Amino acid sequence: MFILPPFKSLQKQIAASTKADVKQALVASHAGIDGLAALLSPRAEEMLPQLAARSAEITAARFGRTIQLYAPVYVSSFCTNKCAYCGFSAENKIERRVLSLDEAEAEMDILHRRGFNHILLVAGEAPAKVGVDYLAELARRTRDRFAAITIEVQPLSTADYATLFKAGITGVAVYQETYDPIIYKQVHLSGKKADYDYRLKSPARVAEAGMREVGIGTLMGLANWRAEGLALGLHLAWLRKHFWRTNFTVSFPRMRPAEGDFHPLEETSEKQLSQLLFALRIFDHDVGLVLSTREEERYRNGMIGLGPTRYSAGSCTAPGGYTEPDSALEQFSVGDHRSLPEVCDAIRSKGHDPVHKDWDAVFQAGQPII
Ligand code: SF4
Repeated sequence: MFILPPFKSLQKQIAASTKADVKQALVASHAGIDGLAALLSPRAEEMLPQLAARSAEITAARFGRTIQLYAPVYVSSFCTNKCAYCGFSAENKIERRVLSLDEAEAEMDILHRRGFNHILLVAGEAPAKVGVDYLAELARRTRDRFAAITIEVQPLSTADYATLFKAGITGVAVYQETYDPIIYKQVHLSGKKADYDYRLKSPARVAEAGMREVGIGTLMGLANWRAEGLALGLHLAWLRKHFWRTNFTVSFPRMRPAEGDFHPLEETSEKQLSQLLFALRIFDHDVGLVLSTREEERYRNGMIGLGPTRYSAGSCTAPGGYTEPDSALEQFSVGDHRSLPEVCDAIRSKGHDPVHKDWDAVFQAGQPII
């Protein structure tokens, strides 16, 4: 089982890093955990151009000039949890909606016609509304149209993940939100998500079930971003050691305006987000790094080629929002409103290739089987 050192000790380790440690991490073939701590430190801030250059070099060597594209489909805004930072939180008096299977399939079809081949199904945590049966049936109906169908829903058991994998779900994103157990308790007020340990063990259950891809991440704006970065690195390294067949991605969503009056507990600037991305890339050369439409167009354009390998585009965060746009139902407002062709043009203008499909089920014997 993954055991995280005390969060405060991570902050201390980072603070103790010297400029020499940063320089060493930049020239090492693999930076290691000590190197990651140095790259996340205030000392490394002064060397951000060198971090960007090293991150770009590794990204080009491992991923070429490619950027994968995906779009989220929100299937339900019902949630049984109270998370202080989220528009879908159970106590928020908002209009809620769960899509029927036909409606969800119609949303996916719209995105398919727009050129998307990777869909992320998103739902609040309300198993009675969107459970394993719903997700499995939606995957069975649509798996022939998409190279990847990933989910971001309530954490499930290993057996449930295995059922979904067989039905055609290819990956699961389950973010810890914050690795600081004290802050975690403050912001996860009730519901199953209030159980820090259960959530921390979830990525391992996903990998155990045989899913192709596991996404981990933190919500930037809750706890110290440097320590979150080191915790992510430790978690990723542990997962890689135990599940070497699995592909991993990391996301660092920064908090966006949402329903309720929650304000970020920690501000994270674009410069700091960049440092975090570069540090993770230098630490783990193969991990997929996701930059979603939470970030502004200008920033996303500027980061092309420097480290991120996966962008969302043309995103809507309201259930049914592609069929009938309705901002009143959104989980949060996005920062980049461009369509898929516009994002593809921006990627090409930087000399990179937008990638819609990088996998086919025939590569993997036995999947999907039901
Ligand atoms: S963050 Fe997820 S679990 Fe928490 S209230 Fe929002 S939708 Fe529900």
